Amino acid sequence: MRGKLGPALLCLILCAAAGAQAQEARPSRLLSSDNLMQVSPHVWVIKGSPNIGIVVGKRATLVVDNGLGTKNGKIASDIALRLSPKGQKLYLTTTHYHAEHATGDGGFPPGTILIRPRVQQTELEAEGQKLIDIFRSRSEEDRSLLEDYRYQHPDILFDSAYALDLGDVRVRLSWFGPAHTKGDELVMVEPDSVLISGDVVQNKTGPYFYCSECTPRAWLAVMDKISPLNPKIVVPDHSPPGDGSLVTSEKEFLTELLTRIVALKKEGKSVEEASRLLTPEIEAKYPGWSSLGRIPDAVARTYAEDGK
Ligand SMILES: [Zn+2]
Repeated sequence: MRGKLGPALLCLILCAAAGAQAQEARPSRLLSSDNLMQVSPHVWVIKGSPNIGIVVGKRATLVVDNGLGTKNGKIASDIALRLSPKGQKLYLTTTHYHAEHATGDGGFPPGTILIRPRVQQTELEAEGQKLIDIFRSRSEEDRSLLEDYRYQHPDILFDSAYALDLGDVRVRLSWFGPAHTKGDELVMVEPDSVLISGDVVQNKTGPYFYCSECTPRAWLAVMDKISPLNPKIVVPDHSPPGDGSLVTSEKEFLTELLTRIVALKKEGKSVEEASRLLTPEIEAKYPGWSSLGRIPDAVARTYAEDGK
């Protein structure tokens, strides 16, 4: 019977593979120290959904994003304190207002200093509850993690830039304009040349436009401000960390997307025609990229921006 598998054995192999795939598609939302990795002398990442950044200085520690709900916030702050000198002061910031990034405040110890771009805080106050409701309806795990979430009011709000001194580590927090959301924050850890990039620079992942001002063109304008930072390491939120080439790839992808949309519009194609043509074209040009389902949204947003 060489080369032939019985149906039971075949199912055993295929079903196990399908099971593993299903598990991969929906990883647990709960953060774990088992998934902690160090990416540079001062920067650690708890890999998860989303990745959490921890920047440890001699005088203070910064946590970037705090997970879904109080329980995840507690796990993130416990890990941050374990990596830090005893009695270390904690700073907390969030890359954007979405629930899996910004509802863990309640798990952080009293005295934690929360910093945020003013635009992001306004967006959170206006839109945060909508996202919480969406997550609550998604899965039993998300619903239960959000049961006792509470927001902390920021101690520091900034307009476009804030320099944070953690002792031997200087961190530059920036708001460059709308991309994935209106209030996206970019976190540059200067001595290590690490960029914690939220959903703005991802690793082979298509863009998701989540605010009325969020368009391929607006996102590209943000990329123009990110490029000069020239990071050696990039830590995205929902994809694996990589080197500085992630910035170039993200910019190239958005440039290609925008250029093709503008060209198709010039040719007189409707939004529907342009979307139908462009989706397979981009998929073929960017093999290995995930989340490319929002190309029609990119088309519609650019057409609206340029006047139909
Ligand atoms: Zn998001």
